[in-house]
Amino acid sequence: MKNSHPYIHEYQSAVTNYMEYLNVIAKHLTSEEGITGIPLDFHIVPCLLSKAPPPLHIYTSPPDKPQTPVLAFVFCGKFLPPSFFHRPVAVCIRAWPICQERGQCCLFNGLAIFTVNDTYTLRICYMDYIIYARIVCCSENEKVYNFIWLFQEVRRKLKKSLKDFVHLSSSVFEECIQCPGMKVSLHNEWLFIVKQFKYKNAIACPVCNPNSVTRSNAMKHWFKERLDRIETDDE
Ligand SMILES: [Zn+2]
Ligand SMILES: [Zn+2]
Ligand SMILES: [Zn+2]
Ligand SMILES: [Zn+2]
Repeated sequence: MKNSHPYIHEYQSAVTNYMEYLNVIAKHLTSEEGITGIPLDFHIVPCLLSKAPPPLHIYTSPPDKPQTPVLAFVFCGKFLPPSFFHRPVAVCIRAWPICQERGQCCLFNGLAIFTVNDTYTLRICYMDYIIYARIVCCSENEKVYNFIWLFQEVRRKLKKSLKDFVHLSSSVFEECIQCPGMKVSLHNEWLFIVKQFKYKNAIACPVCNPNSVTRSNAMKHWFKERLDRIETDDE
């Protein structure tokens, strides 16, 4: 705001409120404030952030840590304006503290990491027309499936933030799961449309070949409730 025309300054709070309403900017919560819900009067403008230092995969696929498969929101028409990504980032900034990792605050242009609880971090990033999300556990002994409810909640929050923003049906994007056997998440590789698992028990995958990606492996983290419904209906 400091470089804008003086006219804007007179209306700063109104402009700020409006931008917060649009989720263009978001109030930043520190760890303690994340708990008490008292925000600082401090703003983050996602499009002014710097790029994450490479290699990206140390953030998106940290080795030897229990983690969920990568959830991907793949935008139809292969089109995703950066502002679509800023929306879930802003929603996350309001919900959880930004994670400190490798001595830096992990809020970058196109990549953000949040501390969702004592042991779990949410990593979201985007490339081209795909938004990726993964939850990683910082404790090697933690059982990822003890926190299934958390994954459902995070997925719903991300999805809602995108749907609210585009004011369109969810057909604007497709929810996909990346092959759970993929060690390092690669952009736009081996993504499986989750809806397909409604009718298929398993889908062939070149990474896991001769094994395939089973419905259970694809859905048991982010889509556990839907998986339970499908399996109940099958009986
Ligand atoms: Zn403010
Ligand atoms: Zn922007
Ligand atoms: Zn590398
Ligand atoms: Zn696979």
